[in-house]
Amino acid sequence: MVSQNVLQKYEMVIGLEVHVELKTRTKIFCSCPTDFGAEPNTQCCPICAGLPGALPVLNRQALYYAIKAGLATNCKIASTTKQHRKHYFYPDLPNAYQISQYDKPLCENGYLDIETGKGTKRIGITRIHIEEDAGKLVHLEGEGTLIDCNRGGVPLIEIVSEPDIRSAEEAKAYLQKLRAVIMYTGISDCKMNEGSFRCDVNISVRKKGEKGLGVRAEIKNINSFLFVVRAIEYEFARQVEAIEAGETLVQETRRFDSATGKTYSMRTKENATDYRYMPNPDLPVIEVTGELLDRLKSEIPMLPDQRKKKYTEEYGLTPYAAEQITVQRETADYFEKAAALTDYPVLVANMILTDIARLQQPDQTDIPILPVHLAAIAQMAGEGRINSRTGRILVQELWENDTDPEKLVEEKGLEQISDINILSGYAKEVIAENPKTVSDYLSGKAAAFQALVGQVMKKTGGRGNPVIIQEILKRLIHKKE
Ligand code: ADP
Ligand code: MG
Ligand code: ZN
Repeated sequence: MVSQNVLQKYEMVIGLEVHVELKTRTKIFCSCPTDFGAEPNTQCCPICAGLPGALPVLNRQALYYAIKAGLATNCKIASTTKQHRKHYFYPDLPNAYQISQYDKPLCENGYLDIETGKGTKRIGITRIHIEEDAGKLVHLEGEGTLIDCNRGGVPLIEIVSEPDIRSAEEAKAYLQKLRAVIMYTGISDCKMNEGSFRCDVNISVRKKGEKGLGVRAEIKNINSFLFVVRAIEYEFARQVEAIEAGETLVQETRRFDSATGKTYSMRTKENATDYRYMPNPDLPVIEVTGELLDRLKSEIPMLPDQRKKKYTEEYGLTPYAAEQITVQRETADYFEKAAALTDYPVLVANMILTDIARLQQPDQTDIPILPVHLAAIAQMAGEGRINSRTGRILVQELWENDTDPEKLVEEKGLEQISDINILSGYAKEVIAENPKTVSDYLSGKAAAFQALVGQVMKKTGGRGNPVIIQEILKRLIHKKE
């Protein structure tokens, strides 16, 4: 393996191609359903099975969804656009061509802004085009390979970025932002584990300061953010090592194996000319009118970046918290509802990002607590009527059984204890009972102090005001000294 010193001399150049399955009810060129996980070959017809003479008809909804993707990523939308045949032979592609787009893609020249350690960075989007998905090969151990055509003809968009990405972290941030934006538009559920959002990583390396582009490898169909990061890190080191050893890199397609964490060559990479693109004579030129664009624009909700701005400016969230809250549209909608009902929106955000996030299953977006109830917890916490521990317990109880938290606090007597006389009484007891911990604290052990605070808190049944407890303990111990 090459040393860190050698790696330091190089930089990586990355462009991402992302395929997104559109959430249309039927396929892109026929009326077969698109449901995931159906019995093999139960969702296909002569058109998507590529039988001779069958004629494709473009699904309007797929076109509208693709335009929305372009609008949401700041692209120019073409007023006319064509569909091409992209020829290659593969057993799960019965036509031996895929209907895609070549020189006149639907969307071009967009961008997305991402947050990096060094601030905001803009990643260019070269193009977005529409195309059909291929079928699936199912390999049976020792019994050959079967073909499932169900996925053939599912509508896809391919989103191609400029080679603007310079690190694995930037690649991840771009993918997360892209996925969030697409999900806001409602055109795809972007489930990486079901393949409805998948990514090809194009990566080359060059010496820092060089301007030209190196020879790229394309790593196909990576289906998790973590694997994207690992594949990039591995591939960067591999390419640098090859160059340092005096080898010549070839443009090739590779695959990432998550078990070994390595990439393996699959084939040398075709160039566009090898595909013999030709306009598909079965499909007319697509025209996109200004009217249609206006209508689709009006259907796009407020996107993450706009919301982020609003949450930092109006509600005082940190950029980081605002970024997290806006990743999922459902979470952002929920936050807005609750935030409007309390004077403490920052506390609402904190509870969503910590207490509620802990209770949610991976991928769960719904929150079984009425926004008005979470707002009430934030209000009580903000006003000091309950402490943060009680806030956490209330969230947990409401998660199981949603009810009015104010009543719960009253019934169970959960109000915060801030009375100095009561807390001083407990503090004196704790000091008397724990001489060793007190002297540990005095000799500089910070953990000892937290232990004393914990003891007092215990005597209050977890309802003490932690700030006041700390003040009292310090005052009593140092006075004694
Ligand atoms: P293809 O279909 O042949 O993969 P595309 O134009 O669809 O070609 O995508 C190419 C992707 O590779 C783009 O994201 C582009 O930014 C990126 N790319 C092109 N050249 C390089 C390079 N030398 N190093 C890294 N990425 C590159
Ligand atoms: Mg490619
Ligand atoms: Zn069909």
